[in-house]
Amino acid sequence: MQQTPIRIAEILLGLKDVNLIGVEDPADEGSKAPLRVHIECRGERPKCPVCNGMSYSKGTTSLVELYDLQSFGRPVRLIWHKRRWECRDGNCSSPSWSDVDTSALCHKFPTISLQ
Ligand SMILES: [Zn+2]
Repeated sequence: MQQTPIRIAEILLGLKDVNLIGVEDPADEGSKAPLRVHIECRGERPKCPVCNGMSYSKGTTSLVELYDLQSFGRPVRLIWHKRRWECRDGNCSSPSWSDVDTSALCHKFPTISLQ
């Protein structure tokens, strides 16, 4: 039996390498809108794609909504908080870049960009 909260969330969501940020339940306000589950990719800090140096987070810069999911028969929207990264090596020409799809999120579900 899994007892680690992160692993429990991964099992319930059917996804790996994600952190559960939070859940919005519209039913609390009487709405029948889908449950909204906010996640971000977990994993090692990416290397700069140009110089292979250390990258630095610029925070969350875009939200991607994944839909057509269900949880215990209830419709769910997955809100993926994509992080943006940058290289701070003054001699490197790399522009900033977003989280890559480490868990095949975008290939698994239809998506729409929210920001
Ligand atoms: Zn670089």
